[in-house]
Amino acid sequence: MRFQEMYSSVPRTAFGFPLNHSLQYRVNSSWNEPRAKENHPGIDSYGDRTHYVYPLANNAFVEDKGWSDTGGNFVVLKYNINNSIVYSLYMHLDRINPAITKGSIISSRNTWVGVVGNTGCGDCGPHLHWEVLSSYSSLDSRISVSPNNFDWGNAQFSDDAAVFKRVDYHSASRTLYVRAYDTDVGKRVPVNPYIIFKPTSSTQWNVAQMTVVSSSTFDYKYTFPYSGTTVDVMLAGRRNNSEYWSYYPAKYTNLNNSSNPLPSLTDSKLTLYVP
Ligand SMILES: [Zn+2]
Repeated sequence: MRFQEMYSSVPRTAFGFPLNHSLQYRVNSSWNEPRAKENHPGIDSYGDRTHYVYPLANNAFVEDKGWSDTGGNFVVLKYNINNSIVYSLYMHLDRINPAITKGSIISSRNTWVGVVGNTGCGDCGPHLHWEVLSSYSSLDSRISVSPNNFDWGNAQFSDDAAVFKRVDYHSASRTLYVRAYDTDVGKRVPVNPYIIFKPTSSTQWNVAQMTVVSSSTFDYKYTFPYSGTTVDVMLAGRRNNSEYWSYYPAKYTNLNNSSNPLPSLTDSKLTLYVP
């Protein structure tokens, strides 16, 4: 298991996100996040057993599939992009599409590969653990590439500097729930996240500190003071003892003016409907 930060031989836009449900921007644990035994080699996107998992691109070759004691039901797909070989790995699948056989080609990205589950991970909730690989010969011998090398539409993935671990929007209550903390030598450190938002039609950003839901679980919330409009949203959290801000959904960003978390209008953002 090795980590690879840079990977430029495949275009940034070569791939699409492997989940297409309404919370596809969910990132619950990011790539290279520190863990007890080994840093996290992939991305965890929580879902449930109704959420299908798809290839990242058309014409995916089924390189491997099977069972692993820690990964549960897993599938490895291989893509040839401009003569560069790259792979995607999916783990903890509740089930694998029985039509998917090793050595076959999945011509369409719209063919589901598996369903989100929690096989092989004990008492964790259903989630997709997925990775982009530059090399694969077995699960024990693979090179995991940073997802920052690619564009994922609404979703952006930060490296281990990311502080936003969970983002859930409850539209009925117009409330955005966020779990945010920094990690410092293996222990969790609180951040006090800001929400940066505006009606989509406006050019004027508003900034507010999010309300603490639970300081022990690092959960925060914010209820939008609007109705019947879409809002553009970014989250910003200042890292512990640091001049750096971590953004969601934008990547880890170092602002010149560290007292001002305002993004530019062209930065990536969530767009949510407030009923
Ligand atoms: Zn994972």
